[in-house]
Amino acid sequence: MTKNLVVGAGFTGAAIAVLIANKLNEEVLVIDKKNHIAGNCYDYKDENGIMIHKYGSHIFHTNSEKVWQFVRNFGKFNTYMHKVHAIIDGIETTIPFNFNTLYDVFPTTLARRLEIKLLKAFELNKKVPVLEFQKQDDEDLKFLANYIYEKVFLHYTTKQWGTSPEDVDSAVTARVPVYLSKDNRYFQDKYQGIPTEGYTKLIEKMLDNKNIEVRLNTDFKGIKGDFKRIFYTGAIDEYFNYRLGQLPYRSVRFEFETYDREFYQNNSVVNYPCNYDFTRIHEYKHYLNDKSDKTVIAKEYSENFVIGSNERCYPIPKEENTKLYNQYLELAQKENNVYFLGRLGDYKYYDMDKAILRAIELFEEVYR
Ligand code: UDP
Repeated sequence: MTKNLVVGAGFTGAAIAVLIANKLNEEVLVIDKKNHIAGNCYDYKDENGIMIHKYGSHIFHTNSEKVWQFVRNFGKFNTYMHKVHAIIDGIETTIPFNFNTLYDVFPTTLARRLEIKLLKAFELNKKVPVLEFQKQDDEDLKFLANYIYEKVFLHYTTKQWGTSPEDVDSAVTARVPVYLSKDNRYFQDKYQGIPTEGYTKLIEKMLDNKNIEVRLNTDFKGIKGDFKRIFYTGAIDEYFNYRLGQLPYRSVRFEFETYDREFYQNNSVVNYPCNYDFTRIHEYKHYLNDKSDKTVIAKEYSENFVIGSNERCYPIPKEENTKLYNQYLELAQKENNVYFLGRLGDYKYYDMDKAILRAIELFEEVYR
């Protein structure tokens, strides 16, 4: 029994597989239910030469030297700093809400007054989660807090999570804080970029190893044989046949449109917090500067995950769900040589870098 099994060929599964294959020189079988590798990071070049992120925009960003060094073993990244635009009251502006947004959406005299008050109340460059930002005594700042809550968070979050900002874990909306800065970037991480040949190619390179065998269209339930260790990046509740009940997820649906013009919008992502039923529009050619007379966009709609009809995309961080997950974790700890990891295995809203870091740290822990 020298072979290891990795369930799931996404970033997490590929990372743990290549670590075992390279550092231990052990064999690894990687299986995935889907007909492609790369999980929800899957991308492909379409007939117009545009790299499409099938499951929505993926921007790599990290402050971890370890993760940055690791991923660059498998491909190059371009120099790309992500920005997000949003349409607020018909005005195209920047998200997170920052000083530039303030001047975009309000008349200059009002914006100036609010800026002065903000700089008295907060340190420059501070990031304040919207739910905290609402705790203002000053009338002007109270007005601003309500404006941001209503125009940026309330409707977007309701569309995205099917519930109001107060009813999702505060860490979720804190991902996009009010930013007391003129920095228009979505992330401030030291390292940011998009793999120049795409995520699928990068993950393919991770899996291209003499010790790794990949089997697609393969369900864990049909796999026979004894394995030294199993690394399971699928949904933890599914592993246990939903014995304790189902862990809820949000899913997303994309409606793709092709236009006979060079660009559809000014930016890769434009959020529509208040208008329409979709949350945002992605325009993919911005990421790698793909040259084409056409452009492809995707309108993103959020919906509940339903087994068999769509994909698990976002674990829903809420107390009752964490409680159920913890019960599954107790069962997981009783399994011999089975390790759970990844967004679905850990039921955590990981960004790509955190998912990879989790794989690296688990590897170091298990093979210490
Ligand atoms: N959010 C919002 N309005 C926005 C952008 C984000 O209300 O214009 C909230 C929303 O609840 C969202 C969360 O912030 O789910 C995190 O946003 P992020 O862009 O990090 O989500 P992801 O890109 O992972 O879907």
